[in-house]
Order: sequence, then C-alpha cells, then structure tokens
Amino acid sequence: MENRYSTDDTREGKFLSLRFRMVEEQLVTRGIQDAAVLAAMRSVPRHQFVSESLQSEAYADHPVCIDHFQTVSQPYIVAYMLSALDLERSSRVLEIGTGCGYQTAILAEIVEDVYSIEILPALLFRANQTLDRLGYRNVHTMLGDGALGWAAAAPFDAIIVSAAADSVPEQLVAQLAPNGRLILPLASKDGSQHLVLVKRTESGVALDELLPVRFVPLRKTGLS
Ligand code: SAH
Repeated sequence: MENRYSTDDTREGKFLSLRFRMVEEQLVTRGIQDAAVLAAMRSVPRHQFVSESLQSEAYADHPVCIDHFQTVSQPYIVAYMLSALDLERSSRVLEIGTGCGYQTAILAEIVEDVYSIEILPALLFRANQTLDRLGYRNVHTMLGDGALGWAAAAPFDAIIVSAAADSVPEQLVAQLAPNGRLILPLASKDGSQHLVLVKRTESGVALDELLPVRFVPLRKTGLS
C-alpha cells in the first residue's frame, strides 16, 4: 500500500476528497453503518481499478465499465452487500467475480484472508496486478467457474457473488460454515433481479429477499 500516493500527490488528493464525499453522500446518508465497511471504502483507491479514461467517474453514484463488458458495482451496492454479510476480522470470505478487484480490495481491508474466483483470464490478470501494486498480500485468487466454489479453502463464513444466477448454486451453500452467509443477485424468469441473503442454519437454510438490482449474468464459461 506504500505506492498508493506516490505518482502525483495533488491528483491523489483530489481523488481522496471525492472518496470521502462518496462515503458520506452515497453510503452514510443511505443508512450504511458498518464501521469496517465505511473505513475500507474511505481507504481503497477505487479510481486505480478502472481504466485511465474512466477515473474521473470512479466515485460517481453508478457502476463503471471495466473490460470485457463487465462493470464494477455502484459503491452503494458494494457497501450494502458487504454490510449484509456481518463480517468480522477473522471471517473467511469467498468472492465470486473478481472483476477489476475493487471489491476484493475492500474485503482485504476488512478480513484477514480473502479468496476470489474470476472466470475471465484477462480480468483476473489485471486485477492481480492492481491488487499486487497496491500491496494487498492477503488475497488468494483463482481462475475458474465460481459457481463450483473453492472446496480446498472451504468452509467460508461469508460468500459474495457479483454476477446474477438463475438459482442459488448448491455447491456454494455446501461450502458455507455453520451460520455462514451467502449474498447473491438472483434472476427471475421475467428478467428482474433481487439480492438474496442465504443463511446456513442448524436446520437448513434461510432465504431473505433484499433489494432489486441489476448485475451482469453469471457465466458458464470463460469464453466470450
Ligand atoms: N466485484 C467485481 C464485479 C465485476 S462484474 C468488481 O469489483 O469489479 C462480475 C464479474 O463476475 C465479471 O468479472 C465476470 O467475468 C465474473 N464472472 C461471471 N461469471 C462468473 C463465474 N461463473 N465464475 C467466476 N466469475 C464470474
């Protein structure tokens, strides 16, 4: 994290104030209270995860395009999903859809170990580079289909899926620890999507439908 401000201090200072404003205006005023999530979102330089030409939009109240027709989620949605997971420092977390690595970095600020799976090789390569450059050493990434989970690193206290599925992937539920939480966008037949929180309880699983959302679909293969 030592190189974060080395390129151009004035420019980075401008992004820092945009970032603080993003947290106040988009997150705090809309009810996000999780202190660890708010601190991480004040800290991670979101603009460094998007291409140079889109950096000025990085802190705006909407998703931003990354490569291969994918997007980095709107800041509020990232904060909302992570708050719903009730993370603790010791939580073991799996992320599906590394994308540009922005949310991975937020997670890496909050918990000790983050596991993240991405299906598109070019995106994973770039995310790994960015995370490495920013000094995140507690992130483990893998290329593959995230719907299968990461059995060797399971069980997880929390799993977050950043692409919309048609049904709750069974293997992800199976890789939840007791009391583990899984949050994902779920698509209905009519094309609408909702965030769903799945909790593993002693007697089975409990499902809660949260916000309506719009995510890119969960892919079956890494080929475009
Ligand atoms: N959290 C990301 C969001 C990226 S958009 C970010 O901060 O940038 C969703 C991502 O999920 C894309 O990168 C897409 O390639 C990836 N994805 C889609 N289907 C997947 C699958 N089955 N397994 C793993 N990643 C997948």
